[in-house]
Amino acid sequence: MIKAWIKFLAAAVFSLLLLCSCSRDMTEQENSPYTVSFFAMDTYMEIRVYGERAKEAAEAAQAEILRLDGLLSVSSESGDVAKINSFGEGKLSGDTAALLEMSLELYENTGGAFDVTVGPVMELWGFRDGNYRVPSSEELSQVLPLVDSEKIDYGSAERTVKLGEGQKIDFGGIAKGFASDRTAEILRNAGVSSAWISLGGNVQTVGGKPDHSRWRIGIRDPKGSAESYLAVVSVENQAVITSGNYERYFIDEETGKRYHHIIDPSDGLPSDNGLASVTIVSDSGVLADGLSTSLFVLGVEKGADYWREHRGEFQAVFVTEDGKIYITEGLEACFTSDREYEVIR
Ligand code: AMP
Ligand code: MG
Repeated sequence: MIKAWIKFLAAAVFSLLLLCSCSRDMTEQENSPYTVSFFAMDTYMEIRVYGERAKEAAEAAQAEILRLDGLLSVSSESGDVAKINSFGEGKLSGDTAALLEMSLELYENTGGAFDVTVGPVMELWGFRDGNYRVPSSEELSQVLPLVDSEKIDYGSAERTVKLGEGQKIDFGGIAKGFASDRTAEILRNAGVSSAWISLGGNVQTVGGKPDHSRWRIGIRDPKGSAESYLAVVSVENQAVITSGNYERYFIDEETGKRYHHIIDPSDGLPSDNGLASVTIVSDSGVLADGLSTSLFVLGVEKGADYWREHRGEFQAVFVTEDGKIYITEGLEACFTSDREYEVIR
């Protein structure tokens, strides 16, 4: 009888210990993320996923980003974009077609500030192969007529595309946002309710933090180091995507002048309107990415007008070269900064 009691007690203690260790595992899973980090789309990516299904979900998302990279990169020979660029025409997969449609819509809506046919100009400046150089005005004027989305012949029913002679498409201004939307979708479909996705500093969030507070996303100081922030936006379930002239650039040895990678399609030169960065906050990553590039080219005033016409779709933070900050009205409640800022209404 005493033996039976001892056995029972031992079993009870063992079960209790097991239960404790399981529940500790669960809490750990909830509070510490499963993280994958890797290099894709020419940049460093990190996905932090919380909850029980974090590992499978994060790994599935990583695999999908690598697939999209192959499809959309200008240098991946078997992908849609590289093929279309070398043959000038072809049939697109559903994803590439969706991205092209979005790009053409942005071209229309922004009066050509966003132009996916910017490829030949990117090549001319050396942003494609890293052989940076300042092109002559003759070279630029030869290539500039190729930057014109009007010349793309796109048939949405069959997803066929024909580029104008010599044209090349470049999804660099929008592909990361497309990939972060897809990542968020994969995670949500796997039942994940809390995740932080950073594709080269462009952040997309799933839900809030595990403790249900909002994610605090830093906006980089264009004049500071990679770790210095001039403001924070608190968000959940949204994308926070920045285009900045400090992200990719080269300095001309002769003149000491800096040339960055966001091109004004009207003259083929790096956009030079006094802006240092534009951050877009939106439910849609692809829209945020496309618009961060577009509004960078449009500048503060035209960018503010664009927001007034589309204020239901996104909010924006503009930072100028001389350190001024402008935020759109919808960010007032979730924007914090030690610096002064003006609200666009
Ligand atoms: P982002 O960092 O999202 O602003 O994207 C910049 C990238 O977009 C560049 O590296 C180019 O690949 C591409 N790009 C540059 N200028 C434009 C433009 N005006 N319209 C569309 N894409 C552009
Ligand atoms: Mg962009």
